[in-house]
Amino acid sequence: EPAHPDRPFFKAYLDFRFVKSNLDLLRKNVKDRNSSADPDVVANLYDDWVRLLEELERGKLDPEKRAELVDQGKALKATLAVLEAEFELAEDALQREGQKLPNLSHPEAPVGGEEAARLIKEVGSRCSMGFDVKDHMAIGQALDLIDFETGATVSGAKFVYLRRAAALLEMALCNYAMQKVAAKGFVPMTTPDLVRESVLTKCGFQPRGENTQVYSVREMGLCLTGTAEVPLAAVYMDQIIPEEQLPIRLAAFGHCFRTEAGSAGSASRGLYRVHQFSKVEMFVLSTPAQSEAMLQELCDIEEEIFTELGLHFQMLDMPTGDLGAPAYRKIDIEAWMPGLQRYGEISSASNCTDYQARRLNIRYRPSVPDVEESKLSKGLRKVPTEFVHTLNATACAVPRLIVAILENFQKEDGSVIIPEPLRPYMGGMVCISVP
Ligand code: AMP
Repeated sequence: EPAHPDRPFFKAYLDFRFVKSNLDLLRKNVKDRNSSADPDVVANLYDDWVRLLEELERGKLDPEKRAELVDQGKALKATLAVLEAEFELAEDALQREGQKLPNLSHPEAPVGGEEAARLIKEVGSRCSMGFDVKDHMAIGQALDLIDFETGATVSGAKFVYLRRAAALLEMALCNYAMQKVAAKGFVPMTTPDLVRESVLTKCGFQPRGENTQVYSVREMGLCLTGTAEVPLAAVYMDQIIPEEQLPIRLAAFGHCFRTEAGSAGSASRGLYRVHQFSKVEMFVLSTPAQSEAMLQELCDIEEEIFTELGLHFQMLDMPTGDLGAPAYRKIDIEAWMPGLQRYGEISSASNCTDYQARRLNIRYRPSVPDVEESKLSKGLRKVPTEFVHTLNATACAVPRLIVAILENFQKEDGSVIIPEPLRPYMGGMVCISVP
């Protein structure tokens, strides 16, 4: 933990030389992403840091200077101590400002705010229902599925009890998604919903501050996870993975807790935005060469899941202004929600390249061609490690899928048809009707 509250409590392995030699690119990047980080400040702090490091090394190592100062005894120690303190401060400042820099953006990511999202593909079509459609809250009320009143009494506004078929639907969606991703080679896991504050920070989330989305149990030094991406990202923290093992595919069921600071309004109606929900999340660690293909693989799995559920949706390449700091590229899926009369985001897949790996210190050791093997065994050369790339993607975020299912598969008599792949997980239930 930091001695001073402003002191960063972990050292990220940031590439400051890259910052210095790519200032124009980084200036454009922070502008495109609406980030308040300043690459020029970082470059200047790096210069200070290098200068102090050199001075420190000289003070310690230069034999001539050392001999000259040896007589002065205590004076040498004192000078070094002052330098060391100065160096520590410089390193803190460098880390603090450096860690604010967002990831680079994929050259094809559209530049701009949310409205600049680029449509990649559309799957299915809006079917006309031929009767007055209700929104999920009206359907939920008639079928006794959604209880925000008790949620408000017990926990607060925007906490919900799901009842009857909706509770079964939640479990069915998660079971179906877990089976699906396990069959695709992802290691299925259940993970802690509480993590150390430092782990959350290393994943690129902000546990404190005015606009934090994070609930904390401060006396324990723990935070409630907003997504299972966090405990999954930390599985290989501080480890070196042999290249042959990559890509590593993980998936977890977890609860997500979000304060949703600053996002009230009509776009948050009913189940669309709540403080706690269940999600199955996919996570991948790969080599840099693999990560673009892995993002495609994750999107293909999402597409398969939502197609099997019978939804109509569009896949969008999200613009620079909408990317969180860790993401290099983000592909969202929005499903048509006839009751809300609009598309709503149901999933999100991101390639974070080495942004999280540089903070979590996750590396891989490249395998070497056979010809080099003999040299290596004699210890003549060691292959340097490199940072992995990390990716995350939603397999199933429950509340908005329940919105989409209730609103798309409602019938005129008020009942709701259950998507076929979920029925085996609901005791064969085909239709939700008035209890
Ligand atoms: P994110 O981790 O922010 O990319 O969110 C992943 C998915 O979780 C989104 O696509 C939504 O389906 C869902 N989601 C995010 N926030 C909420 C919320 N407050 N309430 C319900 N679902 C949410």
